[in-house]
Amino acid sequence: MNLLIIGAPGAGKGTMSDILIKNFDLVHISTGDMLREAVKNGTPVGKIAQGYMNAGALVPDEVIHDIIVERFSKDDLDNGFLFDGYPRTKAQAEDLSLILKQLNKKIDAVINLDISDEDLVKRITGRRLCPACGEIYNIYYKKPSKEGICDKCGAELIQRKDDNLESLETRLSEYHKNTQPLIEYYEEMDLVKNTDASKGVDVVFEEIRSFLEGLC
Ligand SMILES: [Zn+2]
Repeated sequence: MNLLIIGAPGAGKGTMSDILIKNFDLVHISTGDMLREAVKNGTPVGKIAQGYMNAGALVPDEVIHDIIVERFSKDDLDNGFLFDGYPRTKAQAEDLSLILKQLNKKIDAVINLDISDEDLVKRITGRRLCPACGEIYNIYYKKPSKEGICDKCGAELIQRKDDNLESLETRLSEYHKNTQPLIEYYEEMDLVKNTDASKGVDVVFEEIRSFLEGLC
């Protein structure tokens, strides 16, 4: 089974990816990880990518393409994989279709973790964390019993610098701009499974599992 997972920042993509990988025995492919790995190992494509990253620029699609092709040259993907964080745009999706076609592979389903912007704002701007023990709270969903204080260790809770409304809105508008055409592309291929990611992780996973089992 070959899957893609799509979801806005804060929709729970990381958590759901981990669960899917374990349950369906998939290889996790994250372009972010692959880029960091290629840079660390100083591969030819890693060196090119590093030039862009050092300049604070986005790594262009041609370089991402080379990294994906390089990844498929390893033979560990025959039992199934899950792409996470790629493709980000319709252009990248079209490119991926061509790469897979040449390898006689295809995407079996695209999991879209759907969540309203309003819920995401609460999830992200409401997040507080304990710098001492790492416990995570949310002022809307998981309040500490004493405001601003960790239940577990009594330390003062903090808010991450990026967890503010302004930074979230920038990320979300960028996300919607790129992702809407991407989802439409896969909807035309009848591959998209939309799930309501505001439900609990277990509920969402059960929904995805029965959908995927229906494909087999
Ligand atoms: Zn704590």
